[in-house]
Amino acid sequence: MVQISLNNISKSYDSNKVIEAINLSSKDREFIVLVGPSGSGKSTIIRIIAGLEKDFEGDIRFAGELINELEPKDRNLSMVFQNYALYPHKTVFENIAFPLKIKGLKANEIKDKVQKVAQKLSLQDLLTRKPAQLSGGQKQRVALARALVKEPKLFLMDEPLSNLDAKLRASTRQEIRRLYLEHDSTFIYVTHDQIEAMSLGDRIAILDKGRIQQFDSPENIYHNPANTFVASFIGSPPCNLLNFTVEKIMELNLFESIHSGAGLLKAQEGNLTIGIRPEYLKLRTKLLMGILADAGFSEEDTRLGVFEVIVTNVENLGELVLIHGRLSPEYSAHPDNLDMVVAKVNNQDFNELRPIIGQKLELLFDRSTIYLFDKQSKQRIS
Ligand code: ADP
Ligand code: MG
Repeated sequence: MVQISLNNISKSYDSNKVIEAINLSSKDREFIVLVGPSGSGKSTIIRIIAGLEKDFEGDIRFAGELINELEPKDRNLSMVFQNYALYPHKTVFENIAFPLKIKGLKANEIKDKVQKVAQKLSLQDLLTRKPAQLSGGQKQRVALARALVKEPKLFLMDEPLSNLDAKLRASTRQEIRRLYLEHDSTFIYVTHDQIEAMSLGDRIAILDKGRIQQFDSPENIYHNPANTFVASFIGSPPCNLLNFTVEKIMELNLFESIHSGAGLLKAQEGNLTIGIRPEYLKLRTKLLMGILADAGFSEEDTRLGVFEVIVTNVENLGELVLIHGRLSPEYSAHPDNLDMVVAKVNNQDFNELRPIIGQKLELLFDRSTIYLFDKQSKQRIS
């Protein structure tokens, strides 16, 4: 059983609560990602798990056993940091061998294990070098090898890829996922990068201001965000968040089940935030209208919602085009304060219509793809 649970963990510096009431339980051999903006408390949590922070409230259990008081070295875990933390005067071999030496393994056993793990991470030809003679990517692979060679039950990684360039980050990400699949360990991985979180995690805990906003599978995090923070943190560009009133939503017929939920919505005093992802906003292309017609939908079909915007900017990213606009007054609940909207459309659709700055443009969407949030609490209500 390789299962860790954090129960009601809080930590303050002076009177400043930096994490609050963190509850997080892994399954057996699960890959958990902690993601959140800088300062949200990710490193604090991982340091508490590692045993590097002693002064905190709550329980940490490993396979059910309380480990609050255990020294880091007795926790059967390895940690990998952003800055690699290699010993500069030791060779790659000696760096990787170090944890085994501490454990008191015999020289030939150490050599065996180091060679095996070096092979796994393509470090065989670098074993005699010093860290200064390595690239960033190679250093990080040595740090991973040093963590792996201990064969711990728990891997903790704190932004291990942040110092690498984009291409290397993407390939090392795959390597980490592969190492996870090959080992019988639980991984807890910290990052501020939503792509890393989505691609690596079996489940993702999203942190903001020291609190878990949602702990769920990547699919649910993306498709069922619990609040406006999660909706806008995951996805690029972020989910559009538009200020609306119940009355305006009903007038524009923006939301599928607004009538059944109207009583509930009235209770929100009429102030709501609508969320719609940029990738769900479509242009009125011949192809789209043709598909809808073929499927038996008319223009007035109840599933089709419309926002009209005045285009403020067009960003052609090659594969995709971002169309930025400001809601037209008739399509806004707050004509004196018009929300900005961004649509992410494919090149083919863009080329058909070629919208330009200043132009009025209709953005269509399936009304079932809209999220509704309470404006005050920011929590999802549908
Ligand atoms: P993250 O890793 O998500 O960027 P951290 O866990 O490092 O966030 O920090 C969370 C908060 O705790 C931040 O506001 C940070 O300034 C504060 N903090 C971290 N370490 C200390 C410390 N030793 N003393 C005081 N405040 C700290
Ligand atoms: Mg950190």
